[in-house]
Amino acid sequence: MTANLSNLAAIDAAHHMHPFNKMTELNEKGARLIARGEGVYIFDGAGKKYLDAFAGLWCVNVGYGRTEITEAVSRQMQELPYYNTFFGTTTESATLLAQKVTEHAGQNINRVFFTNSGSEATDTWFRLARVYWKAQGKAEKVQVIARRNGYHGSTVAGASLGGMKLMHEQGNLPIEGIHHIGQPYWFAEGGDLSPEEFGLKMARELEAKIDELGEDKVAAFVAEPVQGAGGVIVPPSTYWPEIARICKARNILLIVDEVICGFGRLGQWFGHQHFGVEPDMAPIAKGLSSGYLPIGGVLISDRVADVLAQEEIHHGYTYSGHPVAASAALANLAILENEGLVDRVRDDIGPYFAKAWKSLEDHEVVGEAQVVGLMGGLQLSPDKATRRRYAKPDDAGVLVRNHCLENGLVMRATSDRMLASPPLVISHAQVDEMIEKLRGGLDHLREMRMG
Ligand code: PMP
Repeated sequence: MTANLSNLAAIDAAHHMHPFNKMTELNEKGARLIARGEGVYIFDGAGKKYLDAFAGLWCVNVGYGRTEITEAVSRQMQELPYYNTFFGTTTESATLLAQKVTEHAGQNINRVFFTNSGSEATDTWFRLARVYWKAQGKAEKVQVIARRNGYHGSTVAGASLGGMKLMHEQGNLPIEGIHHIGQPYWFAEGGDLSPEEFGLKMARELEAKIDELGEDKVAAFVAEPVQGAGGVIVPPSTYWPEIARICKARNILLIVDEVICGFGRLGQWFGHQHFGVEPDMAPIAKGLSSGYLPIGGVLISDRVADVLAQEEIHHGYTYSGHPVAASAALANLAILENEGLVDRVRDDIGPYFAKAWKSLEDHEVVGEAQVVGLMGGLQLSPDKATRRRYAKPDDAGVLVRNHCLENGLVMRATSDRMLASPPLVISHAQVDEMIEKLRGGLDHLREMRMG
């Protein structure tokens, strides 16, 4: 490291504009410098150790410090640091990655279009869905349906498709042609219905919206298997089968956003496999390279790919299939395969984590603990019997999050839900450490007696 710590904080405050922050507030505290990572732990500039129960930003699936990836990247850098895939050329790592990533998708998915991020993947399928229908003489099928409190990225199409009010308020979003239906968030919005009844009700909002817009005007519906940024909201069991049925019956494309749920997070290679549905297209990113280098893509089913193959596609990024990022992703997927990490989530660490996470439901301030694979959402509530929410939900989450941070545990809070998504290599003992520290945060919230 070349600059000392206080220097860096001052330089950062003067020059670095951070995503999703109010800079005057951040600069008062100063950004926390993360200096190093090893396994499931990160270390800040002062050497303090934290268990990273959030895998960076839902992405470091194989954990920090994997030399297999850094060595593959170094080799590729020396051999060929860059070449494009636009003008009839490819590179070995881009082509082999296309083969490898589609090998793990269902038998009807055999193509991938590469991007640099999840947001670009969103923009990509959004355009391709319209191209798909136009190529079949259905140029009117352009409307896209998404969900309130969904998250699909930060580009103009991504922020529009996402259902985040605060994002819509900045920049006149959503853009034209995008519509939102409700989310399957039973704890907050289920009322007197059972979770199963509520799941069906929310899925049928899709049917009603298609009817309102007209089936011949709707291109696609998009959703995350489990809403991530929205709060790790696991839908009731009735939800996904009904969504899949409606998309099929009404002939609209089903887009499953796998940016978080892909690459083992739910104990399957992809989240849609856990819920037993087949997407027409699926954006991917994050766990594809475990975040070691930026790369994303869109998985494309044969149904869509066969039509698109007849069209010249006017879309792509300078770094689509970047050879170095692709080599990082290949090395990352080799680790997932060789160490059996996806099966480990399904059969070993996932069930262990689920039991530990669910055990938090005995805590007074926990309304509900939801979990699939290594993804957990913990609803804070001052009264679980009536599913009451805190008067200041954001404050409740921040209180628990900050207490955890003080004690060496990185968790995320979305309003009054605590979110966990640890690296897939986390051990049983490390799960215990995480739960114990989180319990400390929950005790702190109870002691604060927030209404
Ligand atoms: N889709 C989902 C479900 C996401 O969670 C995210 C990022 N958190 C994105 C898309 C956007 O990905 P990126 O930040 O890589 O653009």
